[in-house]
Amino acid sequence: MSRATSTRSFKACIRCKALLSQDTQKCPICGSVEFTNEWSGMVIVVDPEKSDVAKLLGIKTPGRYALKVGL
Ligand SMILES: [Zn+2]
Repeated sequence: MSRATSTRSFKACIRCKALLSQDTQKCPICGSVEFTNEWSGMVIVVDPEKSDVAKLLGIKTPGRYALKVGL
């Protein structure tokens, strides 16, 4: 519970849900330039091939992702 504040240092890509640092101009995963600070739940995908969560979210690239993006 105590780590909730640190998550705000990330913004989420609207298209692929990747979590990126606030100074990122362009999503390195899908190339989108649209981001939101309205996201919840962080999932770290190390091996998309073996991760059930990654399959569920349609994630194919290792990285940090939001479970939910938008309001
Ligand atoms: Zn993206």
